[in-house]
Amino acid sequence: MRRVSIFGSTGSIGENTIDLLMRQGGADAFDVVALTGGRNIQRLADQAKALRADIAVTCYPECYDALKQALAGTQIEVAAGADAIADAAARPADWVMSAIVGAAGLVPGLKALEQGTTLALANKESLVTAGPLLMATAKQHGATVLPVDSEHSAVFQALVGEDMAAVERVIITASGGAFRDWPIKDLADATLEQASSHPNWDMGQRITIDSASMFNKALEVIEVKEFFGVHPDQIEVLVHPESLIHALVGFCDGALMAHLGAPDMRHAIGYALNWPRREKLPVERLDLAKIGQLNFRTPDGARYPALHLAWDVMKTGGLAGAAFNAAKERALDGFIAGEIGFLQMADVVEATLDALSGDAGLTNASINLDNVLQIDHLARQRAEQAIRSQSR
Ligand code: NAD
Ligand code: MG
Repeated sequence: MRRVSIFGSTGSIGENTIDLLMRQGGADAFDVVALTGGRNIQRLADQAKALRADIAVTCYPECYDALKQALAGTQIEVAAGADAIADAAARPADWVMSAIVGAAGLVPGLKALEQGTTLALANKESLVTAGPLLMATAKQHGATVLPVDSEHSAVFQALVGEDMAAVERVIITASGGAFRDWPIKDLADATLEQASSHPNWDMGQRITIDSASMFNKALEVIEVKEFFGVHPDQIEVLVHPESLIHALVGFCDGALMAHLGAPDMRHAIGYALNWPRREKLPVERLDLAKIGQLNFRTPDGARYPALHLAWDVMKTGGLAGAAFNAAKERALDGFIAGEIGFLQMADVVEATLDALSGDAGLTNASINLDNVLQIDHLARQRAEQAIRSQSR
């Protein structure tokens, strides 16, 4: 039986992964090693029981007792805290879903790769933060990284059997998020509630807000570079309000290969779960005649000031990705806490990158875990200062 672990099992991607495991036979078909979550203890315990996991881990030490109690009378081990999650990731497994949100997914992802697993990577932040480290770790340990982000899964599928040398450009689509049709003058006053609803996808709150600001697309542009090794000039973003085409790959002969599918993450998760085979998946089949037409536009820089930062980050290189992601996470915390307005998130991140760009450590330091964690910490501090000076 295939040994599988899910990091972030109680989140949106985690739940969709569990749904697919259950449909493909659950505990009778998979040997589930570790499941991890946060404060949603009852749900984590229920998942662990249903899938007969070896261990359930909450990232919050203060939730240990509650989890222990919820799993009393079972054989399931219980642990808590970031180190316990890293230890769980070091347990041998054949397939590991990396679906923690934020840079907190980096260390568990590295630990999983060190044991030579196949890592299904939803946690785009780890690629943005430390792409070269992650990919080198995979190579060194004979591990495989499969993309789970829908756009990257689409690119990956369009590239099957192709030669990378023949790739001219990679185009990822963006729905445009919650505010794609809002008057730009209203964006500064957008509320948390308004930013937390997505027109097409049902996702966790943080990525939903990042979709409204297009910080999510900025992360994904960097993710394309790190995953597929293309030059930043070869990456394009196209607003496509229907979210049915997820990505396109353009080749040197002018051909464009597009990947279409319903906006349902179970497609990309299922592709990574069954790769290199395809299995029947419970996603809607598209009726293109009924859909009638698809729309496209160029992203508007005034509406999405966060997007262009991706190219600045790629140009700087080195640890700029780690600084960018950390500043973005702190700015997002600031917006969620009501410290700054919606558009100020991009200002905070830009100010942080400016403050750190004079720092030679950003470009000269090697991308190892210590340096990455150090710059992550520093960027959060700088972002905090920027938030204080921007606070309304
Ligand atoms: P979510 O907020 O729904 O779930 C996050 C999971 O991570 C939860 O299980 C939570 O308990 C856990 N978690 C949160 N903070 C943690 C920490 N500090 N340490 C350990 N665990 C922690 O998020 P999501 O929408 O499922 O997104 C997960 C990842 O997948 C993100 O990197 C996101 O960008 C990516 N992704 C999500 C979608 C989607 O449709 N939701 C699509 C593409 C990519
Ligand atoms: Mg995506």
